[in-house]
Amino acid sequence: MKKKLTIALVAHDHRKADMVEWAVFNADMLSQHTLVCTGTTGSLIDKAFEEKEISAEIICMNSGPMGGDAEIAAMVVRGEINLAIFLIDDLNAQPHEADIQMLLRQCRVHNVPIACNRYSADLMITSTLWDKEDYVPTKPQYIPFDRQH
Ligand code: PGA
Repeated sequence: MKKKLTIALVAHDHRKADMVEWAVFNADMLSQHTLVCTGTTGSLIDKAFEEKEISAEIICMNSGPMGGDAEIAAMVVRGEINLAIFLIDDLNAQPHEADIQMLLRQCRVHNVPIACNRYSADLMITSTLWDKEDYVPTKPQYIPFDRQH
């Protein structure tokens, strides 16, 4: 990929092993981009990359429960995130559910691709659309629907 992206990486505790494994597997590609992570996710990826002598630009926000998801959501609103990989723990309740929903919602509102599992993440990072100059993503439309007709 020619284009340099800013990629958000967030993983809940029970999904962190999966995230680190995915990030290491894709390290060659990820090291060409800027990675913005919630605190603990970012430090784990940083450690794993260091062990493998992979250099990458990793920016750590606050830990998720302390507002890291909210900070990344604000970046989405400002148009600073190209892609989000968000490995959510769907089997356990999270204390910061409101922030999780905010991040998901802002990605939808601002048309930012968001992968919530590894398969989606793999498909998104290998897309050829990133470098297609003439591809303009269509914005979501919110058109009132009249059920009478
Ligand atoms: P963490 O945050 O990477 O700081 O653990 C992730 C989250 O729980 O949203």
